Amino acid sequence: MATSPESEHPIKAYGYAARDPSGSLSPLVFSRRATEEKDVRFKVLYCGICHTDLHLAKNDWGITKYPITPGHEIVGVVTEVGSKVEKFKVGDKVGVGYLVGSCRSCKNCASDYEQYCPKQVATGGFTYFDGTQTYGGYSDHMVSDEHFVLHWPENLPLDSGAPLLCAGITTYSPLRYFGLDKPGTKVGVVGLGGLGHIAVKMAKAFGAEVTVFSTSMAKKQEAIEGLKADHFINSRDEDQMKAAMGTLDGIIDTVSANHPILPLLGTLATHGKLVLLGIPPKPLDLAAFSLIMGRKTVAGSNIGGLKETQEMLDFAAKHGITADVEVIPIDYVNTAMERLLKSDVRYRFVIDVGNSLKAE
Ligand SMILES: [Zn+2]
Ligand SMILES: [Zn+2]
Repeated sequence: MATSPESEHPIKAYGYAARDPSGSLSPLVFSRRATEEKDVRFKVLYCGICHTDLHLAKNDWGITKYPITPGHEIVGVVTEVGSKVEKFKVGDKVGVGYLVGSCRSCKNCASDYEQYCPKQVATGGFTYFDGTQTYGGYSDHMVSDEHFVLHWPENLPLDSGAPLLCAGITTYSPLRYFGLDKPGTKVGVVGLGGLGHIAVKMAKAFGAEVTVFSTSMAKKQEAIEGLKADHFINSRDEDQMKAAMGTLDGIIDTVSANHPILPLLGTLATHGKLVLLGIPPKPLDLAAFSLIMGRKTVAGSNIGGLKETQEMLDFAAKHGITADVEVIPIDYVNTAMERLLKSDVRYRFVIDVGNSLKAE
């Protein structure tokens, strides 16, 4: 029976992994399965750093199995395909996001909502159907069932496009599902980080009138001039919040820290929806009255299914949407994680895996 990351599978792989809750990443030799019938194998070129990578590396959620190789915003070029692969060929540019597996038969999977499949397998640090660990994109190559592989649009940059595979779909999906994708819709975006800045770009591409909420006045210029948001509200300023009462059709709330949601509900118009994407540690402080008056909804949303992720990539390519990124070599990853913890990045780190990760 296989017992170590190096010997579970026949194909040697090389990456960076965290080995304990310090979250410090260092080189790891591990293994990946041989290319099976439906598998696509690809050389990793770029991989975005999502805040989830940091949580998993440090075992913040108590679910991490070490060693963990994070990374689920992975872009690369196909090097091998299995005998029954239909959608990809060697040389294709491809992406893999947060999922590499789901049951493919439950009601969620049948409706292209793999992200809600109870048997879903996430890309880095989780258990695959064969009992072995999954390893993410901070590594030289990936192998995945073709169902979980995305076609990379020709005119979408590989580096600044990579974060779309998580941050992009996480914001695109709720805008679509909750009907906030119509021209003229008034959409609020709370928090201007990795998710928030893409939410603004997506909503603008749909033709929405976008209001950014932030507690940092320093973000105003970036929101208005950089991201072309229409309005900026300092959410700590009661007068500004009051002036926005009852105006928004929906709000995409990307903040993971504890924060009051009642003032945000106040800015929603009748039938407005507040969609939560962040996971604050404490339960929400929510008064029923604030929902009843105006038949408002508080909802949540998690990434998106594979079909919708492909649709999102094609939409992003068409509208020229990419993330604002700082491209780094892999040996900078620990510094990047420290900076991410302090929100010291505008707005996403992307690792140049192809040029900087070399097997030792
Ligand atoms: Zn992510
Ligand atoms: Zn399923």
